[in-house]
Amino acid sequence: MELSQKLKQLDEQAVKKLRPVFDKIDEISQKNTEKVLASFKNHRVSDSMFAGSTGYGYTDNGRDTLDAIYADVLGAEAAFCRHNIVNGTQAISIGLFGLLRPGDVMLSITGRPYDTLSEVIGDKTHNGDGSLYDFGVKYDDVEMKDGKIDYDAVDKKIKEHGEKIKVIFVQRSKGYAVRPTLSAEEIGEAAQFCHKLSNAYFVVDNCYGTFCDLSEPTHYGADMIIGSLIKNAGGGLANCGGYIAGTKRAVELASYRLTTVGIGTEVGATIGENRRMFQGLFMAPHTVAQAKKTAAYASYIFSHLGYDVEPSWDVDRHDIIQTVTFGTPDGLCNFCRGIQAGSPVDAFVVPEPWAMPGYDDPVIMAAGTFVSGASIEISADGPLRAPYTAYFQGGLTFESGRYAILTAAKTILGE
Ligand SMILES: *Cc1c(COP(=O)(O)O)cnc(C)c1O
Repeated sequence: MELSQKLKQLDEQAVKKLRPVFDKIDEISQKNTEKVLASFKNHRVSDSMFAGSTGYGYTDNGRDTLDAIYADVLGAEAAFCRHNIVNGTQAISIGLFGLLRPGDVMLSITGRPYDTLSEVIGDKTHNGDGSLYDFGVKYDDVEMKDGKIDYDAVDKKIKEHGEKIKVIFVQRSKGYAVRPTLSAEEIGEAAQFCHKLSNAYFVVDNCYGTFCDLSEPTHYGADMIIGSLIKNAGGGLANCGGYIAGTKRAVELASYRLTTVGIGTEVGATIGENRRMFQGLFMAPHTVAQAKKTAAYASYIFSHLGYDVEPSWDVDRHDIIQTVTFGTPDGLCNFCRGIQAGSPVDAFVVPEPWAMPGYDDPVIMAAGTFVSGASIEISADGPLRAPYTAYFQGGLTFESGRYAILTAAKTILGE
């Protein structure tokens, strides 16, 4: 790769300075991999489980075993993961509709949830589509304060709504907001705080957070965590899907929305997806580490090129997202175009902003991925609104991540 003297030096410096940061990331990957392997052995994972089923999928031993392994590894009583959950939004929707009933209140304590959940939650303007709002579920939220959960405000809201609160909701990753990501441990503290004041289920949108820390929010008492298989938990191998893990009752209730009441997780053909889902989980801690290294590297490079970044390159990461703020639409678009040009698939394509379903502003996306839209693979996106922040994530290998970041830097510098 041809680099100017400036970029070449910056790249060399980055790799050297990041050494201790990478060591820490590898340590987490090592421990999480050991957890996965121990569970595989415990559940006697074997070749026959990869065969897949058709029709109703009764007695699909692979599916049931993988569910049990997910529960184990994520520190939960129960779990399910399914290839036919279409995305993270649907997985979260399954969880929310599983738990909430007419007259209940959903209280989000990390501000307004991820953009695509707006229509799931609904309001007067979406009346009639079958949102939670249409079914008589009320929504309220508490904004975060100085990057932390505002416990005083949460306390007040819990007292205001009382027993009506059925779900207290936390989003681990920053998503499209400008705030720090919460660690599993911080979320655990919030779960314990809320459980003292309320009988509500404590539910976590774990998208982008899975395997970033040594533990998951469920290890610390969250009732439910939810994630996507084309993000962290699928390890870059799962073709599609999502997971829900948590307490036995919470997961059971969610399973009745996944399929239907009385059926739950007992049916569901896996039509040949099992092997990729098993192997994806096996890969996931390592793949997440690759993505975190790529993010830390991006943070180093772009902060040294003079852009605002979050988080900074030297801190512990609780998700795989890196933001770089460009201040101009051109900056954001050029960054995404550079990432696309440095991707393994569709490197010849030039991304343009478009009105994506579920998002309020036009969004520009770079996704040169093997699995369409998979954001555990190198990808960048951002809504075309001030301050024109790119959300960068993924990278199946650090080597390819580094290459894409350098390509983006070259594009922005006009090299
Ligand atoms: C990606 C994401 C979602 C939604 O997932 P999709 O797969 O895009 O539907 C929800 N919450 C957070 C924090 C996410 O990062």
